[in-house]
Amino acid sequence: MRVTTAFNRLLSLPGARVTEVCFEDARLVVDVALLRRRLQCPECTFSTAACYDTRPVFSTWRHTDMGRWKVLVRAGLRRLECPTHGVRVEAVPFARHRSGFSRDFEDLIAFLATKTDKTTISRLSRVDWDSVGRICERVVADGLDPARLDGLVNIGVDEVSWRKHHRYLTLVTDHTAGKIVWGAEGKDTATLDAFFNELGESRSAALQAVSMDMGVAFNKSVRAPGHAPQALICIDPFHAVKLVGDALDKVRRITWNELRQLPDQAAARKFKGARWSLLKRPENLTDDQSATLRQLRNRGGDLWRAYRLKESFRAIFAGDLDPDETVELIDRWCSQASRSRLAPFVKAAKTIRKFRDGVLAAIRLKINNARAEGLNNHVRLIIRRAYGFHSPRAALALVMLSCGPIDLVLPHERTTI
Ligand SMILES: [Zn+2]
Repeated sequence: MRVTTAFNRLLSLPGARVTEVCFEDARLVVDVALLRRRLQCPECTFSTAACYDTRPVFSTWRHTDMGRWKVLVRAGLRRLECPTHGVRVEAVPFARHRSGFSRDFEDLIAFLATKTDKTTISRLSRVDWDSVGRICERVVADGLDPARLDGLVNIGVDEVSWRKHHRYLTLVTDHTAGKIVWGAEGKDTATLDAFFNELGESRSAALQAVSMDMGVAFNKSVRAPGHAPQALICIDPFHAVKLVGDALDKVRRITWNELRQLPDQAAARKFKGARWSLLKRPENLTDDQSATLRQLRNRGGDLWRAYRLKESFRAIFAGDLDPDETVELIDRWCSQASRSRLAPFVKAAKTIRKFRDGVLAAIRLKINNARAEGLNNHVRLIIRRAYGFHSPRAALALVMLSCGPIDLVLPHERTTI
């Protein structure tokens, strides 16, 4: 078998044939020629037989490694004149527009990015992290299902912080499919307005419920004419539970500050590690954290009362109550909290009363199901991985790749070889 024939089979580059193989600078360089005569515009479907000129330098793409070798595919490309886009370098079937990597290589990296951390990917693939971000962007632009915004009925809008709380992303979830279908940088009314502009009036009018947090920004956008004023606003109980958790944390800080004023600092020091003992679910505590919790119980006082209030609120949403029982318990909890003389809880009860109908709507529509929570946790994990990217578009692309309607297909899984 000839070497070029063997490499044609090995590389399986669509629309190209291998003309030469050589080793250069610790890389395996494979020269290829395009099979087709016609020149294809990289940005539209325009194709022509007329060659504008030939690029004076070779174009190169990194392909999947062979053994320990990096593989570089090299070809001389021509330019064409597209009536819409002007003079452009012709497109190649085996790589995406403006990419220095082959499709196979990019698909592999995108898959890894959804599964594992930055260090592993960089070491395995020898690609820097920002390039990984750009690869994710290209794979998403190429593979995102254009019909993903069709037929939406129940959606959720969430903001997530990206890059250490300085910047935010707004994400829209399709509750029925359990997937993220849209995202943008920002967290204000205008951010969500952009979603409705893309969705258009008729698809917006078909929305029945939108779940969100207790802020005003998203609410305002949903209520705007031409958006989805008909939709029922639901408050995900997750947000209400978080609000009560924050109230508990405020009581904890007040108590800690009081302890620090005392002459004996031992109590304050011991208390410092109490944060997670209080905020985590009791079943998830470590032995040390459980011991801290027992000490707090023995000590009693405001903090222990606050903890019990938080736990009783969380129990309401464990999922084993029907909507009527839930209403009753929420109301009972609110009056208990208002009489608690714990300022943060009095305030939390007031907010929860205000959003009570929204929380109940979410429970009736079963929007706070385990799947939605699982998706939230997954998004948070992915966002942490995306901290290292410099562009919000790359962070969004990684979220879409991991939690959106994209089927990532690895090179060996494709049917045509
Ligand atoms: Zn064009």
